[in-house]
Amino acid sequence: MHFKSVTRIEEIVNSNTKEFRELFYRIYSIRSCVGELILPKKIEKWAREKFGNCEKQKIVRLTNKISGESTLFNELRAKRPFDAKSDFSIKVEDCAFCDPENRTPSDTFGRVIGKHCLTASNIAKYDCIHAVVVFKEHDPFVRSKEVIEDIFSVTQKWINKANKNNPTAKYPFFMWNCLWKAGASIVHGHAQILLSEEMYSKPLQFRRIRDEYKIKYSSDYLEDISYIHETLGLGKKYGNVKVLAYLTPIKEKEILMISDDFMSLADPLHKVLNAYYSMGVKSFNVAVYMPPIDEKDLYILRIVDRGNISNKTSDIGGMELYAGVSVVSSDPFVLARKLN
Ligand SMILES: [Zn+2]
Repeated sequence: MHFKSVTRIEEIVNSNTKEFRELFYRIYSIRSCVGELILPKKIEKWAREKFGNCEKQKIVRLTNKISGESTLFNELRAKRPFDAKSDFSIKVEDCAFCDPENRTPSDTFGRVIGKHCLTASNIAKYDCIHAVVVFKEHDPFVRSKEVIEDIFSVTQKWINKANKNNPTAKYPFFMWNCLWKAGASIVHGHAQILLSEEMYSKPLQFRRIRDEYKIKYSSDYLEDISYIHETLGLGKKYGNVKVLAYLTPIKEKEILMISDDFMSLADPLHKVLNAYYSMGVKSFNVAVYMPPIDEKDLYILRIVDRGNISNKTSDIGGMELYAGVSVVSSDPFVLARKLN
């Protein structure tokens, strides 16, 4: 039996109905090519062992024409095993987050204290209203749904409290960087919340895309994206939450979730995190695009694997920063199978 793979995306899409193809190609474009090279004798054996048959490499570029997101997949890279094991210790000599009430600052409007976490004021702020949600457990690999629910509920309470204190700040942003590859400077499990007076650029861009799409096509962008993913076998529903193995991932194993409310994201997030851990993921970023305060809209969660923790190389280079195209090894079709 042939499993679906991203390097055969064109075939997969074209085997669907005309209506589906029209919608797919309205949003996405596919470019594929074969990269060729000649191996000198001296490295032939080594190269074949490391990369397989690398003299001809099929490369597929998937672009979301509406959002501008674009990803390059290389057949050779996509064939590499998903599960990476790495050994390292999360022990820390002297961890301030293990004693947060005494060793982290509080916001001027106080703390929000939950069962599994509490808020601190970020000591070196990205923006004026910036909190840290310090988890009770030092271990950053949260596995339980209950803990994530508590983190989300504390986050919601903090947002309300911070907004009461600063009524002009209306735009919440939640993020969770796990370990140093994801940009975390502290090992102890923690998430972050910001409340700004102006929406941050990516959530704003996302909003504009949705608005413009509605005007241009009289259709809902996220509904259409979800329908495409579901039809291709890349989307699933957990309760009311749509979970997509994203076709144009920013980096490895990116998943996008769409929900009517914040709390409903806790269950699918805990499932995805446990699937991530079982694939050997140790470092990840989670972000939630939230509607402005007093506005009803969708919550969009994105989560991405930041690569092997023991690898010194950064997963983000010039292609991602300046070409605006992500080079990704993980195949969304393989990811979708792992999630099932
Ligand atoms: Zn700690």
